[in-house]
Amino acid sequence: MPHPRVYSTEGIILRRTDFGEADRILTIFTPAYGKVRAIAKGVRRTTSRLAGHLEPFTRTQLLLASGRNLDIVTQAEGRERLEALRGDVWHATGAWYVAELVDRFLEEDDPHPRFYTLFAETLRRMEAGAQAHEETRSWLALRFFELRLLGELGYRPNLHQCVNCDTPLRPEENGYSPDLGGALCPACLHLGARRVSLNALKVLRLLQTSEWEALPAIRIEASLRNEIEPLLRATLRYHLDRDLKSWSFLNDTH
Ligand SMILES: [Zn+2]
Repeated sequence: MPHPRVYSTEGIILRRTDFGEADRILTIFTPAYGKVRAIAKGVRRTTSRLAGHLEPFTRTQLLLASGRNLDIVTQAEGRERLEALRGDVWHATGAWYVAELVDRFLEEDDPHPRFYTLFAETLRRMEAGAQAHEETRSWLALRFFELRLLGELGYRPNLHQCVNCDTPLRPEENGYSPDLGGALCPACLHLGARRVSLNALKVLRLLQTSEWEALPAIRIEASLRNEIEPLLRATLRYHLDRDLKSWSFLNDTH
């Protein structure tokens, strides 16, 4: 979609790169225009009116002008700064990870309003987790985000029938294959699949179908976390066809 000559939009900064002496190039996720790249001129000077309003994860009201290569940020006003999240290494790393996923999965100028809402809500959940010093709920918020992202982009894994022979899965240990798009029954496990326990499958199904507010307070043991996390990561990696930088940081902070 071509951008208007001047346009006002809400947006969340996904990434920023220093440019020239005092500028920054920003990658911004917006509800109506999708992912947009823009330059913020002079923003690294302490006198800049924009400084402080264009931090990563900040939900910002922006005024942008279309440019030949990059749009130009002319005004910015931060609306939601997520301070607790920034102050906690585990939560900040999680937020970087979520932002990197958005950045990698989305092409520029491809609007995805529901995906934007999911992203904004995930950051808010991470902020609440950081405020409460509560990692379990935030860990769930990350997995919820991953599964919903896959659904939003048309990669929803099938967790109810075997993706090879279509048999409804029974309550037992089954298989899972990122390449084939979901779970496999025991008879089809020979297709080189990972194993997935009944408990892991139950949590994945719950995250895939339940609204966030309706999720029960599930207690997730470390062994279960260590089963679910790599499984989703393998699925994302399969669709992205590459690794994410933030994965190595996430592993370090566990
Ligand atoms: Zn099967």
